[in-house]
Amino acid sequence: MHLYLHVPFCQRRCSYCDFSIAVRKRIPGQEYVETVLNELTRVGSPAAVPRGKPNPGARHPEEVATIYFGGGTPSLLPPDAIGRLLRELLPRTTHDAPRTVVEVTLEANPEDVTPDNAKAWRAAGINRVSLGAQSFDDTVLQWMHRSHDAARIGGAMHALRGAGIENISLDLIFALPDELHRDWERDLDMALAMRPAHLSLYGLTVEPRTPLDRWISRGATHAPDEERYAEEYLFAHRRLMADGFSFYEVSNAALPGFRSRHNSAYWSGKPYVGLGPAAHSFDGTTRRWNLRAWEAYRRAIAEGRSAVESEEKLTEDQRELERVYLALRTEEGLPITAPYRHLPPLMSQGWVIEHNGRLRCTPEGWLRLDSLVNEIAMHTETRQ
Ligand code: SF4
Repeated sequence: MHLYLHVPFCQRRCSYCDFSIAVRKRIPGQEYVETVLNELTRVGSPAAVPRGKPNPGARHPEEVATIYFGGGTPSLLPPDAIGRLLRELLPRTTHDAPRTVVEVTLEANPEDVTPDNAKAWRAAGINRVSLGAQSFDDTVLQWMHRSHDAARIGGAMHALRGAGIENISLDLIFALPDELHRDWERDLDMALAMRPAHLSLYGLTVEPRTPLDRWISRGATHAPDEERYAEEYLFAHRRLMADGFSFYEVSNAALPGFRSRHNSAYWSGKPYVGLGPAAHSFDGTTRRWNLRAWEAYRRAIAEGRSAVESEEKLTEDQRELERVYLALRTEEGLPITAPYRHLPPLMSQGWVIEHNGRLRCTPEGWLRLDSLVNEIAMHTETRQ
């Protein structure tokens, strides 16, 4: 079972971000822990039953395979709050050696990664950190409203390694507006010089009602350029592959042995349980999602109500389409079963290749993944 905890707190809102966050100066860590553990008891999740609260209908907590603290900024939680949560969530049998058994990821912003915090996270069971670096250019970081400067990224890597956390991923954002004169090649070089085990690369998108959206509306900056997007994405592929990384998913590259097990579970359609505001859960057929705002979520749990805002039961067709989409996102690709034979137009465009009985996207195909999946869906419909 795969467990996701959404930690909504941030110090400020980044210029491009439309996530469900709560900007707070003081982080209500204990309140967050109590609320999430109450939600877990309420959900009666088979994924992880808090110790001392046996649920006769539940499977054993030993089945937890991955835990992911996402946000928001989970690294703003006090380390003892993270420790308390993991004491409840990590299976009893693996608590002594969680580093090798359960993958436990914490998303962290560089400014929160002090040597003391890193040691406390490691002691609590965190064995993977996804670091929101985004760029090594201070002008760019200020434009993004990030609260760290480039120098902090190296300090954070050093602190994590000093605490024994080697499984580190760096997030970088590409395809920024021309006027920032961002040097993507330099940023990739700087990132690789830090020898991360994993990189996640995201193209900048303009989401409604973000500061970036408002800047573009009043002409203060420009929307990201599609050509730049394609050039930088393809460049990153070549550069990272040459450095021994494999792009195992459209936005993610890893050294051997360092793929994200948690995210890989999403991409292979496995069930997962999400806790916290805006968290999603999936049991194989039905997807549920929680109230987005921290206050609404907190109140619902405090009053003994469900925090689920809504749910959708996927039809068989929807599940199949989702399976195709998720499979094509990954390096493994889509098994070529009956409906997916005879797709020669896509092959001739060089967007997909056939490899060991599977359809796999090329980097050029990943650039147009959405339209590719639509084409495949239309093609298979017309053949039925
Ligand atoms: S730190 Fe992350 S979640 Fe918080 S505002 Fe910035 S991008 Fe959004």
